[in-house]
Amino acid sequence: MTNANSSQGLLTGQKVLVTGGSRGIGAAIARELAHEGASVAITYVSREDAAQAVLKDLPGSGHLALKMDVGQEASVDEGIDQLLKTWGQIDGIVNNAGVTKDGLLLRMKTEDFDNVVQTNLKGTFLVTRAALKPMLKARKGSIVNITSVIGQTGNAGQANYAASKGGTVAFSKSAAAEVASRGIRVNCVAPGFINTEMTGVLTDDQKKMILSEIPLGRIAEAKEVAQAVAFLLSDRASYITGHTLSVNGGMFME
Ligand code: NDP
Repeated sequence: MTNANSSQGLLTGQKVLVTGGSRGIGAAIARELAHEGASVAITYVSREDAAQAVLKDLPGSGHLALKMDVGQEASVDEGIDQLLKTWGQIDGIVNNAGVTKDGLLLRMKTEDFDNVVQTNLKGTFLVTRAALKPMLKARKGSIVNITSVIGQTGNAGQANYAASKGGTVAFSKSAAAEVASRGIRVNCVAPGFINTEMTGVLTDDQKKMILSEIPLGRIAEAKEVAQAVAFLLSDRASYITGHTLSVNGGMFME
């Protein structure tokens, strides 16, 4: 399907990798970027059917779905190689793939700490390192890492998740400082509470409590995060790097 407006999009002609694009926020990001004229590669780890369904509905052309476990170096390197063979370039990266394994500290299993940090933080490092090479060569690019309000405030029961997201902010600032001279920008988007499978597991009481802490008084839709990502990827954000853009309805104000 061709989008008649794609020639006027914020990201026309750009090739952007979105990790974890098979559902939730990643799928909404893929749709928004495609709507803005980008070709999008989405990755999945287990749900190929969901990734193919997202792919089928994207407007524009040049899109593809890749199996890639972002926490495994070999899987990441192989996926990026394959992408470069197909596209020849990568203009943008959105490190969105993420997991939670909540639990109070004293009862938190070491493997649950490792698994969350491996996917959320190490995954961001592995994908960024692998996909940065063609950007450095082209002397342009934009990277957006999806963090979380929990990485800014901390949260009881989410020490592993908060550490992975706070670490991603520090990682992103360091990366931004390293690659700025090559015309590459690195930023974060920190969502608050978004309507996806990740938050679908919350009880009604938990949701009520969260809503009472959100000045805008509602849980956001994934598209509202996707719009912030499209902005940071685009030339409209040409002088913004090392920044974390909160999309949280006011629940945490820096
Ligand atoms: P979902 O659970 O809905 O989707 C997670 C996505 O990540 C899926 O596409 C999944 O692939 C992929 N994924 C999981 N593990 C891996 C891995 N090891 N390698 C590659 N891909 C993987 O999550 P959300 O859409 O809710 O969250 C997306 C991002 O936004 C995450 O980084 C999350 O921390 C962050 N976030 C979410 C908030 C929310 O309220 N939902 C709030 C703040 C931040 P598959 O389908 O194949 O399993």
